This record gives sequence, structure tokens and C-alpha cells, in this order.
Amino acid sequence: ESAMEDGGGALLPPHVLIFPPPIQGPINSTFSIAELLCLAGFQITVLLTEDIHSRLQSRGNIQKRFERYPNFQLRTISDGLPEDHPRSNDTFLELYKSLHTKTKVYFKEMLTSGSFESNSGSPVSCIIADSLLRFTCDVAKEIGIPIIYLRTFSACCLWVFFCLPKLIEVGEIPYRREDEDALVNCVPATESFLRRRDLPGYCRYVDTNNPAMELLIVEGEENARANGLIINTFEELEGPILSHIRASCPNLYPIGPVHAHLKTKLAAQNLSLTSTNSNILWEEDKSCISWLDSQPSKSVLYVSFGSLAMLTRDQILEFWHGLVNTGKRFLWVIRKDWKNEILAEFTKATEERGCIVDWAPQQEVLSHRAVGAFLTHSGWNSTLESIYEGVPMICWPCEGDQQTNSRFVEFVWKLGLDMKDTCDRGTIEKTVKEIMDVRRDEFRKSADNMAELARNSLIEGGSSFSAFNRLVDDIKMMSQ
Ligand code: UDP
Repeated sequence: ESAMEDGGGALLPPHVLIFPPPIQGPINSTFSIAELLCLAGFQITVLLTEDIHSRLQSRGNIQKRFERYPNFQLRTISDGLPEDHPRSNDTFLELYKSLHTKTKVYFKEMLTSGSFESNSGSPVSCIIADSLLRFTCDVAKEIGIPIIYLRTFSACCLWVFFCLPKLIEVGEIPYRREDEDALVNCVPATESFLRRRDLPGYCRYVDTNNPAMELLIVEGEENARANGLIINTFEELEGPILSHIRASCPNLYPIGPVHAHLKTKLAAQNLSLTSTNSNILWEEDKSCISWLDSQPSKSVLYVSFGSLAMLTRDQILEFWHGLVNTGKRFLWVIRKDWKNEILAEFTKATEERGCIVDWAPQQEVLSHRAVGAFLTHSGWNSTLESIYEGVPMICWPCEGDQQTNSRFVEFVWKLGLDMKDTCDRGTIEKTVKEIMDVRRDEFRKSADNMAELARNSLIEGGSSFSAFNRLVDDIKMMSQ
């Protein structure tokens, strides 16, 4: 009797265990993928560390989001750190070590003792895990369960990670400040435009002996160990880069943009989206939508630097003056600390054309007819959301993959301008005017084109649609 038959011989659906890394960023797109796989009829278990679970729990929307899927369950596992551990960026390596020693043991024990078994009794038949959680692949191989890796950031950044050993070998990183504008030679497909300053933030002034670097240096080999790699992008956007990644990781599933993929699939089944933001720790302020309703078409600049970016007071003030000097209408997401200070600067004139919120329903904002451009930190989710809605971007990247994404936005996709490493009111004003006035038609046209390609990739016969079908078929086959 096969593992997938219950006592009566009826076939049970494949059971996929999904394990995102215990960091905020990837959680949201991981939940979108989980929901897509629920819709495909699989039994789904999402495994979160207790710490992440308790942080999400305070909002309670995971339960609400998934209550219509009887084939969904949530499980938790310890990350092995004491409860009062800060779990900050600075201590990430401690978390990483603990996961790869302690959590690894718990994970294996939970898998082999049937802790993840569903109500209908189906054991886990396939694992989808972020490739940062390397121990999942060791365990999967040890006990003979297929594993597919997942990467939720851009393919262009992943491709740079694949090339890191070479970059270090030839001495292109670490680099000196005065070499920031030198072109990078050994990241194939990007030789004509990728400067050292466009490499992922981790490469800046890097110490190659830093153990954190080791985590990235093995990306290429690590990703090749799994049965496949899911990536949140689409063929029409990053095709040439995906071809290069395929040379070492042949089985790619580019199924993005996953937030829109989910919306499209739900609409096809006449279901509504219950919540897009399972990870969000802040309440969305919907009042900005009625403010947008009263603004002229494409007149508003939406400004948000995502959930993590830390701007200094001086930077905030430069942005503020730059924006005000453009005379444009703007909707600005500023969290807590700086808000009061900016509000104090609000004069009668700016009050009429500005709206400031703690946290916006971003996807709704970007799809609003009044929004004409997006000043963004180039986080991958924000970038995909903007691309999907056809909104041109002004990029002000802060860290990580954002540095690479913004270069692709300007140079490869022609969807906006990259303001990296500059933050003065003059440049801000000039760049906003460039996007919203001077070169408005040009950017609008390429944004419309790319949005159409994104939409087409998600409908029957489209690239992401087909990649998802192939993923579903492969999981069924692997689960037998
Ligand atoms: N977001 C939101 N409201 C806001 C700002 C951001 O809902 O006011 C969402 C946004 O839609 C995106 C996510 O937060 O899905 C930010 O992810 P991204 O990868 O762009 O950046 P990160 O926050 O991880 O740096």
C-alpha cells in the first residue's frame, strides 16, 4: 500500500510542508504560495518558529485568512533560542546557528513521529523550505522526502549571490569606496550596467571573512541540492537572468508575482481575497483611500520605504523638503517617530496636497487611479506590486537586494529612476519631476507594457501560470 492511501485504499492528496525563514520579509509571499497550493487541493502545513508565530498571532489574521481551507494547518517549532533573546539583525548568526543545530533535531523528530500529520492522516510527502534553512534539505534527504527550495527575492539578486565566489576570487569584492562606480565584470548578463554599488548591500565594504558572508557564498551549490527552486518573479521580467541560474539549478519555478497570482486564481474561482497581509504588524489606515478618491488621475506620488528601512531625521527632512518643493500631491507612509515632526511642518498649503499615514493598504493604493508614481526603497514585494499595477518608480534603495533591484528598474526594465546613495532635496525634486512631468509618457508607456506582460504571465498559457501547473504536477509525482 502506498503512503498516500488511507486505510480504505482511497487516495489522499499530497501533503506539502512549507517552512519560511524566521524573518519578516519573506513571510507574506510564502503565505500567498501556501494559499495557492491550498487552492490546488493539496494538504498544506505551514511551519513557523514560535517567535514569528507569536508576533503574527497578535493580529490574528492567519486564522481568518485560512479558515475557508480545511486542508490548511499551522504548526510551530522552537528556534532554540531563549525567549528573551533579541533576535535582531545583529544577532542573526546566533539564530542561524541555533536553527541548524537545535531546530534541526526537533524538525527531524517532528517529521518522523507524525507531528505534522493532517486530520485525514496524510503524512508529509513534500517539503517547500527557504534555502536559508539548509538543515531542512539534510533532514529531507536523510528520511527520503522530496524538497523544493523557495527564494522570495529577485532573481537578479539571487544571480549575484550565485556569482559571489567568483567576485571574491577575482577581487571585485571587497571594493574601495572610490571604486563604487566601476563596472562589475564577472556577473554574466549584467556586464554593461552593473556597478559595484549596485551589488546587494551585503557586498558593500564587506569583510569576506565575515561568517555571514559564508551563508551567501554557498547559495549556488545549496540551491542545486533540492529537487527544484520556486522563485517569486516571472519569465518576461527576468528571463535572461533565470537562464543563467538554470545552468546550475535546472528546475526553476518562476511563479510570480505571487500576490497577483493568488488574486487571479481566487477571482477565477469567484473567491475574494480575505487578507493580503498576514505578516503586517501594523494596522492599515484605510482613510488614505478616500483621500485618493478625491485627487485627480495619476497626480499623486506614493512614498513608502517598506517595513524595515531606518531613515535618519536628516534624510526624512530632505525628502520632506524635496517633495514639498515639487508642488506635487503625495501620500507618505511614515511610521511612528518621525510623523509628528513632519506633521508640525504641515502648513495649510501642504495639508491640501499631502496625506500622511502610519501604514497604507499598499496594493490598493498602487492600483488606485490617482497614483502616478511610487517613491520606493525597492524592496522586492513593493517592486513587484508596482510593476503589476504599472506604476513608474523612483528608487531609493537602503540595503540587501534593493541595491540590485533598483539598478534593474532603471537600466534594464526602464521603469523608473534610481536615486541610490543620494538624498538631497534638489535631487529629490528633480527626480520626481523627471518621472511625473518631463519623461512622464516614456515611463508610463514602459510601465504599462510591463504590467501587461505581468498580467499575461498569470492567465492560462502564461509563463507563471504554466510554471505553477508544472509545480503542482511535479509535487503530485514526487509525492507518489
Ligand atoms: N506595505 C504595506 N503598507 C505600507 C508599506 C508596505 O502594506 O504602508 C507592504 C507592501 O505592500 C509589501 C511589504 O509591505 O508587500 C513590503 O515588502 P518589501 O519586500 O517591499 O519590503 P520590506 O518591508 O521587506 O523591506
